Order: sequence, then C-alpha cells, then structure tokens
Amino acid sequence: MEDDVFCKIIRGELPSTKIYEDDKVIVIKDANPIAKIHWLAIPKKHVLDIMEADDEMISYIFDVIRKVARENGLAEDGFRITTNIGENGGQAVKHLHFHILGGEKLPTRSQKKEH
Ligand code: AMP
Repeated sequence: MEDDVFCKIIRGELPSTKIYEDDKVIVIKDANPIAKIHWLAIPKKHVLDIMEADDEMISYIFDVIRKVARENGLAEDGFRITTNIGENGGQAVKHLHFHILGGEKLPTRSQKKEH
C-alpha cells in the first residue's frame, strides 16, 4: 500500500473533485490549477512514472484523456498534456499522472525563458 497523495485520493482517504472515474483511471481537478482547466489523469494502480508503466496502461489513460477532452469541449479548441518525470522533470507526486491543461490559450515556448 502506497502513501502518496493520489493513492490516498483513490482510496477515498482524501477529497477530490472527480471529472471521470472507472475501474482503472480517475481524472480529478488539480488542487493548484495553472490554467483555466487543469485536470490530472491518474491510474488507480500505483506506478511511479511513464518509465515504469506498461504500454497497455499508457494507451488506456490516453483513451480516457481523449474521451474526457471530447465530452468536456476541450478537443475543439485544443489542450495540452504533460507528465513530469523525476527530479529534473519536477515531479512532486511520485505516482504517474498526466496534466490536462486547457480552457484558454496556453503560453508557448516563445513566451518562456530561453537558455
Ligand atoms: P507534479 O509536479 O507533476 O508531480 O504535479 C503534481 C500535481 O498534483 C500538482 O499540480 C499539484 O497541484 C497537484 N496536487 C497535489 N495534491 C493534490 C490534491 N490533494 N488534489 C489535487 N491535486 C493535487
């Protein structure tokens, strides 16, 4: 049994606002949104990141993301999916999750700092 915040949400020990749920995946609102729409797609099975996940799991999560994007009007105007991996990737929660960002025009590379 893992102790990360998403396992606790999945077990019902912490509250969340659910957008979607089935037996394998939940999609919840991010508690600290950085865009008008900021959701997290999370597998119920504990996996650290995409490096540990199998193709079946990744494929299933992406099917769910496509479904919620279509059903909630995100697909028409576009949206962004990101996943952070490890220290350099800035992964805070050690349980695989995909950020779903949209609902407005998101900043592009040209609007960010250059190296
Ligand atoms: P990451 O940096 O990719 O690990 O992102 C973790 C995300 O989880 C952040 O965007 C947080 O705002 C979000 N988060 C942390 N705790 C909760 C929570 N209890 N409910 C919803 N989102 C959360």
